[in-house]
Amino acid sequence: MATTIHGVADDRLELSIRLGASHLGIDPYEYRRKVEAGLKWCSLDQDWEPRERFGPNVNRADGLHTSCRESHRDYARAAMAKLRKRRAS
Ligand SMILES: [Zn+2]
Repeated sequence: MATTIHGVADDRLELSIRLGASHLGIDPYEYRRKVEAGLKWCSLDQDWEPRERFGPNVNRADGLHTSCRESHRDYARAAMAKLRKRRAS
């Protein structure tokens, strides 16, 4: 049986750790320690946040969105406002 971390198969997680660590420019071991501690990098806040803050996304390797619910919502709202503004002009 494959090992899992937070319900994610280890080999699949390994890839996201490698990609994530190189994206952030940190050591993969450091990245993995954060993940194992229940943290996830929030791409919008540019910070480590508890996994509970992230909404589900089946298209991602770890099954979660790349940003937390809160900033994702703000981001979506800003994008909508921009769209509305463009439509109005
Ligand atoms: Zn966030």
